[in-house]
Amino acid sequence: MHTATLIPGDGIGPSIAESAVRIMQEAGAKIDWETVEAGLTAIDRYKDPLPKAVLDSIGRTRIALKGPLTTPVGSGFRSVNVALRKEFDLYVNLRPARSFEGVSSRYCNIDLVIVRENTEEFYAGIEHYIDPSRSAAETIGIVTRSGSSRILRYAFEYARKYHRMKVTTVHKANILKYTGGLFLEVAREMASEYPEIESNDKIVDNMAMQMVLNPHQFDVIVTTNLFGDILSDLASGLVGGLGLAPGANIGYNAAIFEAVHGSAPDIAGQNIANPCAIVLAGALMLRHLEEDPIADKIERAVASVIKEGRYVTRDLNSKSFVGTREMTQAIIDRLS
Ligand code: NAD
Repeated sequence: MHTATLIPGDGIGPSIAESAVRIMQEAGAKIDWETVEAGLTAIDRYKDPLPKAVLDSIGRTRIALKGPLTTPVGSGFRSVNVALRKEFDLYVNLRPARSFEGVSSRYCNIDLVIVRENTEEFYAGIEHYIDPSRSAAETIGIVTRSGSSRILRYAFEYARKYHRMKVTTVHKANILKYTGGLFLEVAREMASEYPEIESNDKIVDNMAMQMVLNPHQFDVIVTTNLFGDILSDLASGLVGGLGLAPGANIGYNAAIFEAVHGSAPDIAGQNIANPCAIVLAGALMLRHLEEDPIADKIERAVASVIKEGRYVTRDLNSKSFVGTREMTQAIIDRLS
């Protein structure tokens, strides 16, 4: 029995989180969920988007499944997602991008994993205008040897654990000679510790083109924060968009799993949201808990329902579709 935190989230969050919890349970996962509220729901109830109860629960369970949270634009309300990442030093952003038969996309048979550094460089929040008239602004991107080392270690260990053939380090060390140069230097040192894994590196601009021209040449991709942000969405685009994309934010002391898409307030409460991204995030969480056979079962069931295309939500088949609850049941019926 595992204990995990469940943050149902805002908008479509509660309904798709419920789907994930049901499917994980029906697949045989033994999880005792601690349900806590964050985001808009928590503001309404506790006047705080990230109540202490959420931090305490994740601190205790060290693992969470999180529905999407609404971040109102332009208000003083800080992003709960960013706050959680900082609070638990979740230095890995893991974004698998995988093709599903039955989803129209540019390519088939894609199975990429992007490992993005999640805490350093231009996202550290060190930025300001240089004078009161705002004539110029600067953002300082700090890359450290220890920060580079831990993300590269994660990427190579991930490749080793999941029998991945190749790790590609993406950088811009030709121009960013210090930050990019340091990251690349650590990558090359790290690669020498994993002789059984093929490794190479690519400058980010060429990488973007190569991913579009021939994504099958890549396997695990590891990169710094900004490039990872962009390339992980690019990778999702190659396999049909963000609708089926799971993600994970992982640190030494905690890991949070989520759908990549947002809270979709435009379709909340209508039983039409596609639950697959958070269900696949649940499968990633089960792998993190070393429950790979249950994760495999869930991923196979999702793939089978999508491939058949009959019991899927409107975004997957606009001509013939079912609701969130019906698609959830179809996935449960395919678990084997
Ligand atoms: P969104 O991903 O919520 O929605 C974009 C479009 O995709 C909408 O038309 C929506 O209906 C559709 N969509 C999204 N998920 C879907 C699903 N599962 N099934 C069917 N259709 C789906 O992006 P947005 O509208 O830009 O953001 C809404 C809110 O979500 C914002 O407050 C934003 O800050 C937040 N957000 C949160 C996270 C997170 O918590 N990780 C991520 C992204 C956005």
